[in-house]
Amino acid sequence: MIPITVFTGKRVAVFGLGNSGLLSARALKAGGAEVVCFDDEPKKVAEAQAEGLTTQDLRELDWSKIAALVLTPGVPLTHPTPHWSAALANKAGVEIIGDIELFCRERAKSGAQCPLVAITGTNGKSTTTALTAHLINSAGRDAQMGGNIGVPALALEPFAAGRIYVLELSSFQIDLALSLKPTVGILLNVTQDHLDRHGSMENYAAIKTLLVASVEPGGSAVIGVDDRYTRAAAERIERAGKTVVRVSVLAPLRDGYYAEGSRIMRSAAGKAHPVAQLAGIGSLRGVHNAQNAASALAACVALGLDLPAIQQGLVSFPGLAHRMQQIGHKPTNLGNILFVNDSKATNADSAAKALASFGDIFWIAGGKPKTGGITSLAEFFPRIRKAYLIGEAAPDFAQTLEGKVPYEITQVLPAAVAAATRDAEAAGLKEPVVLLSPACASYDQYPNFEVRGKAFSDLVLALPGVTSATRPAFAGNDG
Ligand code: ADP
Repeated sequence: MIPITVFTGKRVAVFGLGNSGLLSARALKAGGAEVVCFDDEPKKVAEAQAEGLTTQDLRELDWSKIAALVLTPGVPLTHPTPHWSAALANKAGVEIIGDIELFCRERAKSGAQCPLVAITGTNGKSTTTALTAHLINSAGRDAQMGGNIGVPALALEPFAAGRIYVLELSSFQIDLALSLKPTVGILLNVTQDHLDRHGSMENYAAIKTLLVASVEPGGSAVIGVDDRYTRAAAERIERAGKTVVRVSVLAPLRDGYYAEGSRIMRSAAGKAHPVAQLAGIGSLRGVHNAQNAASALAACVALGLDLPAIQQGLVSFPGLAHRMQQIGHKPTNLGNILFVNDSKATNADSAAKALASFGDIFWIAGGKPKTGGITSLAEFFPRIRKAYLIGEAAPDFAQTLEGKVPYEITQVLPAAVAAATRDAEAAGLKEPVVLLSPACASYDQYPNFEVRGKAFSDLVLALPGVTSATRPAFAGNDG
């Protein structure tokens, strides 16, 4: 844990006693602050009390004595309406901050020697964060990874010389971290998401952009420039005098990193040379992963890692659970069936990434349907040998596939895995892929996508003759 000493002797209110809220309370207390905690759920308040934290209904607090309100990022700060605790803090003129802000203020005070890599974007945050941490660790340096992935930032090891902190940040966390000053900031992409919490696309993009705009002096803003919001941000930040490192997977760049086939190129003033090769790296298949890999690579170069070490780290990256995760192989007469768990693909856009990354697919899809179904996936239908449909979405998906892709309504995952394996074995193909990429939420049959992915993985590993692939870099927060 990182004790927070920037509020020593002061009274601080903490609202929201989930993982990161509890950590904030503990870290503030360990650093000598007087902490008062609360949550809308009485059970959480009782838990905090049981571990010796002071709790009080914040409605009954004398706000004139409070130095700050630490708000959990899951709680609305502004949209659709401010949470009552935020409204009380605003009324009393008390600043509202998050656990990442505590981390940043403490780093400024006692951890300035530790580089911070902060990562955001609409998609690819976790992959890029885990990959960046993996590249640093595999080069023999000490990466501490946390934030929106894995452990809360304040649960990481305390600041010490040589430690590099790699934090995944959601827009909600950035919103509550006004003094964020990363050594390297990565903004991957900005597309439509979370508008319910941020009001408008412009507001959402502006919050994401803050992460890269705030890089510390001498630091680097690594920006994926393949959408209009991030392109505009790169120009603005460069004009403000910061070092911007552009990344593209769509087109060559005059200056920056870009994908050319499976190679990552680096160019300066129009002169380009290859800096990494992604061919044959199973955990980094697909154009979206080239964006993630090029961004992580750019960050590591900015931190001073050398290219051979980075290439070695790319090759040994095990990938993340439930995101195109290779579960295992099963030999057939002609080759090998590859089993892939992409349970995190809870909508058609995400499933498109996986369908674009493989050929000869035996596709397991379905669950709780999302608006639009799978009509947008038609361009990938030629890659699908057969579909195995599960859950509530099965009849609707069957209608979309009718006459275009052979399918079977298997209703449940065990039947789908059995049927897809049977067909993949009989197909006489060299590299058939049994892919769970549901394009649906899991809630009709599973508590969450992690449990669904774990169920798939257990079924696959129980099949005779399957050899298991490497363990993932990060298995999920609760999976
Ligand atoms: P996040 O943490 O932002 O949710 P993840 O790294 O967990 O992102 O990836 C989740 C899903 O998002 C992946 O399974 C893939 O479908 C898609 N994805 C990953 N990286 C990208 C990217 N760079 N651009 C677009 N989509 C991506």
